[in-house]
Amino acid sequence: MTYVLGLTGGIASGKTTVSRFLREKGAIIIDGDLVARQIVEKGTGGLKQIKKAFGAEVIAKDGQLARKKLGEIVFAAPQKLAKLNSITAPLIHKRILCLIKYYRNKQVKLLVLDIPLLFEGGYEKYCNSVMTVYVTKTLQMKRLMERDKLSSEQAKKRVASQLPTFERNKRSQIVIDNTKEVEETLSQVLKWLIVNGFVEEV
Ligand code: ATP
Repeated sequence: MTYVLGLTGGIASGKTTVSRFLREKGAIIIDGDLVARQIVEKGTGGLKQIKKAFGAEVIAKDGQLARKKLGEIVFAAPQKLAKLNSITAPLIHKRILCLIKYYRNKQVKLLVLDIPLLFEGGYEKYCNSVMTVYVTKTLQMKRLMERDKLSSEQAKKRVASQLPTFERNKRSQIVIDNTKEVEETLSQVLKWLIVNGFVEEV
């Protein structure tokens, strides 16, 4: 029986840090961000739909999606973000379901659905439980601005486009506190892995 663990958290909350650790401990990861990129690769139907909706300016010279340009457009206007999501969400959903089926058939023990917009996309119904990575808003803004070289205004818009942190925490069975050192965060995850029999205590 495959155990499906949803992994989520706000932008720049530390999901990647946790997901890398889970992989090291033997979990198979379905990376929602990777899937989101794959469905708009050069030559895909997804990219064609985006070009039709947002114009040729969102396609770079090499034919790939001009992510930064598209980001500027959609984060400046909520209805444009909604339009983009209406194109990408069904394509992402279909591919993720296909991957879950594939790994279930392979009888993988622990399968992690690493999906930033897990609740927004309705993926919780495929999970045995959901783990969310939590940071305070102040830390989230700080880490986001530093990592992506964003202004406070740009960071605020990205944070505001997601479910509020408290909602995400309330709907998750496991809340991981990532406000302190990374080691402290990972020890919480390790504890969960041990308690649930995915890793042996040493
Ligand atoms: P996104 O949703 O944007 O993909 P994420 O949730 O995967 O982000 P990370 O990329 O893991 O978040 O972390 C965001 C930033 O914060 C990174 O630059 C990371 O190095 C840093 N970071 C993560 N955890 C900690 C921590 N405990 N202490 C200090 N910095 C951290």
